[in-house]
Amino acid sequence: MNLENGPLDPFLDDPQDPAALLDDAEPPQPLTDEERADVQADLAELQEFQSALAPIGIEGITVECGDCGEQHYFAWDLMRANLFALLGEGRTHVHEPAYSPDQDAYVSWDYARGYSDAVAMLSKRP
Ligand SMILES: [Zn+2]
Repeated sequence: MNLENGPLDPFLDDPQDPAALLDDAEPPQPLTDEERADVQADLAELQEFQSALAPIGIEGITVECGDCGEQHYFAWDLMRANLFALLGEGRTHVHEPAYSPDQDAYVSWDYARGYSDAVAMLSKRP
């Protein structure tokens, strides 16, 4: 039997094709509840960072990539999309970073956290 011309795959063109999962060398693992909570917390933090930093001209976050060891630059919206992708698919599209970003306009997550904490503290001063 010629497998090339076998019966039509009933899932052909079906994005939900269960066989697609088998073809994936590294299928994404569904997030645990704990990981989910972490990502939700990151999303909330990201929103704080954006409201604190966008007004001073910061365009997004830079992240050191675990895969290639280089810095990747994510505009606020892209970073948010990544976190949502993580919630939905269990993985991010980390290798679609901003195209030729203005590196001075991006800060690390830790920097953003420190800055927005400071802003929050100042705004609470009497
Ligand atoms: Zn990378």
